[in-house]
Amino acid sequence: EAAETEAAGGVLVMATNAEFPPYEYHDGGEIVGIDAEIAKAIAGELGMELEIEDIAFDSIIPEITSGKADMGLAGMTVTEDRKQSVDFSDTYAKASQKVIVKEDSEIASPDDLAGKIVGVQLGTTGDIYVSDLEADGTTVERYNKGFEAVQALSQGKIDAVVIDGEPAKTFVAQTEGLKILEESFTDEEYAIAVKKGNTELLDKINGALKTLKENGTLDEIVAKYIKA
Ligand code: GLN
Repeated sequence: EAAETEAAGGVLVMATNAEFPPYEYHDGGEIVGIDAEIAKAIAGELGMELEIEDIAFDSIIPEITSGKADMGLAGMTVTEDRKQSVDFSDTYAKASQKVIVKEDSEIASPDDLAGKIVGVQLGTTGDIYVSDLEADGTTVERYNKGFEAVQALSQGKIDAVVIDGEPAKTFVAQTEGLKILEESFTDEEYAIAVKKGNTELLDKINGALKTLKENGTLDEIVAKYIKA
């Protein structure tokens, strides 16, 4: 139980899905990235030790509601729907869903996705919003990892991928022949999820976030991973 570990050893358990560069990804044996470093800095502010659990993206909210993890940091977009299950901290990043296509694709804007085969990561806002296009004849292919969707696109199995902008940049840089459309599919904001009603932890997290924003630590962490 998170409450017990918190009391016993001062451990703050973070749930994430480390397939989302530059926010969280594996580097050697370690999980690194913007979220991992923000979480470590928050734990530092609170005098606690950070423990990271790497699980499927759509298991993160259940892990928090069941109390197995204290907080979720996973480039997680604040949505009205998720607010029914968890409470969110103040936001710490602006984000957007972007469309990746082959360099020679006829798809030029998000409006052209109707009727196409579009890859997304299961349970993400990309999945949720592209699923709304199913009514227009769009086929949604859901992958466990965003990079798997990008590989399927590169192999010509699907027509486009809708995914968050920063991982899109990373994946496109690692793959031949792909580009990101300029126009965003949606604009979003990331925040930290905690168990509904855990105002004690939420207040602590928001206090720590405020300090990290004011003393420049947040900007430093972002600048380390996202080159302007
Ligand atoms: N921002 C997206 C969401 O919240 C994707 C997050 C992710 O894949 N880690 O659904």
